[in-house]
Amino acid sequence: LKIKQFHYFGTGAGLPSLFRNVSAMAVDFENEWFLFDCGEGTQQSIIKSPYKMSRLTHIFISHFHGDHLYGLPGLIATMQLQGIDHDLTIIAPKGIQAYLDSVFQVSGTKIKRQINFIELDPLKTATNIYTHSSFTVKAITLSHRITCFGYRLEMRQMSGKFDNNKANELGIPKDQSRKMLIQGETITLSDGRTIQPSDVVSDPIYNPHFTYVTDTRVCPEISELAHGTDYLHHECTFSNDEEELAEISGHCTVGQVLDIAEKAEVKQLHLAHFSSRHDKRTFRSLIKEKPFQIFLTKDDFSIEARL
Ligand SMILES: [Zn+2]
Ligand SMILES: [Zn+2]
Repeated sequence: LKIKQFHYFGTGAGLPSLFRNVSAMAVDFENEWFLFDCGEGTQQSIIKSPYKMSRLTHIFISHFHGDHLYGLPGLIATMQLQGIDHDLTIIAPKGIQAYLDSVFQVSGTKIKRQINFIELDPLKTATNIYTHSSFTVKAITLSHRITCFGYRLEMRQMSGKFDNNKANELGIPKDQSRKMLIQGETITLSDGRTIQPSDVVSDPIYNPHFTYVTDTRVCPEISELAHGTDYLHHECTFSNDEEELAEISGHCTVGQVLDIAEKAEVKQLHLAHFSSRHDKRTFRSLIKEKPFQIFLTKDDFSIEARL
């Protein structure tokens, strides 16, 4: 898997407003996509977008505040009504299964599909919590008012491209030997010639990583999780003169986030989770020139993954 695009369904903090829905975003791998947080109304935004619920395979919930969670039961129930029945993995703080069970129990809904729950207890250091053939997920507890996790998708690096024409020229038989070269093994042909993988396979292709950090004050855990990530999604709730409010409510100001991203040496920063006190101009005016690309996201907005 390689990230192709990011899409923002909701970019507001706390409560929906006329212009911003509450938190939800997609990481798109073309044939499947992952949802990060699921505030109320997310399913309508998904329906309006090019994203199909039938390709959604993993859902990550950062924490249980309503603006990140209340859309989840509705989304799962809708997928069932649409007949979507492939396996779904939900990664969230401990209690997610009990929450969904109670909603579905009181509403008399029986969810038939297989849901694989990964429930997390607080994590003091960045820890591997999930391994897939194409990526691993690291999580750490951030600093918010309730337990909140940051997630990092460490993508598996991709092997280089096999040059079929060159392999034919060198007379490499179309059998196991090609597979061995792709896997990095040196082979000897029947005529005694030795072929190195580098003769027919290009250098490995870098596969960028993604880190999702929302609803947190400034804390060392962010850097521990995000250091060296290529794409960083970060909350950006308040303006720079609201540091005290940010501290009390467990959030960050624009200036704090720019500092965090710079120290973490990220390549691209995506800002979201904006307080409804401010419109876009306030946030835009606080963005400073930095050695990385910065996107102020908005609802129904996509960013192509080009790194
Ligand atoms: Zn929030
Ligand atoms: Zn919160």
